Amino acid sequence: MTDEPRNPRSGQDRQLRIFSSEVVDSVRSAGNVWRLAGGEIRLPWIFGFCRGVKRALAMLDEAVREHAAEGKRLFLLGQIIHNPWVNEYFKQRGVRILSAEELARLERVISARDCAVIPAFGVPLGIERKLHEIGCEIVDTSCGDVRRLWGWAERSVRSGSAVLIFGRANHDETVVTKSRLAAAGGYYAVAGNLDQVRDFGELIAGDRPAEDFAEIFGPDATNAADLAPFERLAQVSQTTMLYEDTMRVREILSEAYSRRFGADALCERLLFEPTVCRATQDRQAAAVDLCKSGCDVVVVVGGFTSSNTRHLYELSGQFAPSYLIEDASAIRSEKELVTYDFTRDAPAVARDWLPERRPLRIGVLAGASSPEIVVGEVLRRLAEFLG
Ligand code: SF4
Repeated sequence: MTDEPRNPRSGQDRQLRIFSSEVVDSVRSAGNVWRLAGGEIRLPWIFGFCRGVKRALAMLDEAVREHAAEGKRLFLLGQIIHNPWVNEYFKQRGVRILSAEELARLERVISARDCAVIPAFGVPLGIERKLHEIGCEIVDTSCGDVRRLWGWAERSVRSGSAVLIFGRANHDETVVTKSRLAAAGGYYAVAGNLDQVRDFGELIAGDRPAEDFAEIFGPDATNAADLAPFERLAQVSQTTMLYEDTMRVREILSEAYSRRFGADALCERLLFEPTVCRATQDRQAAAVDLCKSGCDVVVVVGGFTSSNTRHLYELSGQFAPSYLIEDASAIRSEKELVTYDFTRDAPAVARDWLPERRPLRIGVLAGASSPEIVVGEVLRRLAEFLG
């Protein structure tokens, strides 16, 4: 089962037509392959917008239409999703995207007569409360899968567990999760990668001194001076993490808690909630299927800050040379392409990225926040090299 059935006649799909692409539609109807003289371009069985993103964009679109007619000001509390094309599109339609500084002094920016839109990954609880105090209209586009994660984590801290979040500490979704756990009076720590999870496991198992907790997690833990609350743990993962990594997190923690407290105590000491959403899992599975089908090179389309797009890039890199790009303009020529250098955390130019051999098989992946209109332009650009 995939996360969303396609229903081209639904009202939401009509609203989102601006993000669609005839090229993508035609490649999709040809079995996700575009055959050309110099090879083929392949798409996975599922890619692009998930249902959470579609819902968020449809709600924002509706708010823009309504409020333009009423002359009401509309503020977006951060990026609606992590894609520059989509955010720019709404900016052009008069939506004001608030910066972190503006969010910090919200009462001076938004009045009771305005409308505030909460993005798909939510906003920290303090900001949500401030909106209610201001009394403005609120359009909450936060995704149901993200809200389910918050609800489970909050219930866990109320029942006495500390929470280990596997995710990026400064990712919007995780920032909100942290704010909710802090408001519920809970203890939490954020592990950004498997190495940090292993470190955490070693602390719990007693392989390293408890004082190292502060050194490893520092500001990414509520009370890095005290490991004791973590002796009973609930573990969640950011909804867009690599699914295979979250399975590894389970193994590492189970092994550590079992060593410290005994295998019989595991049920009582350690709780897991599978919070990587279906859309993320499907896109990752489809990316692996596509890569295994044989690609000489893979182009991953999406925002550089999009977590699920970055993970598709990580996956495809295990199979073939892969390049993450934001849009077709990144492909300067067969010799040069603007991608992202994760070691420097900055855009970088890749040279000689396109293999010379023909026929060539190019795989194209797109994250859950990547609009098909952008994917379609990338397909067109790539087709020029195989024409
Ligand atoms: S990727 Fe998952 S959690 Fe994020 S908006 Fe889509 S469905 Fe929701």
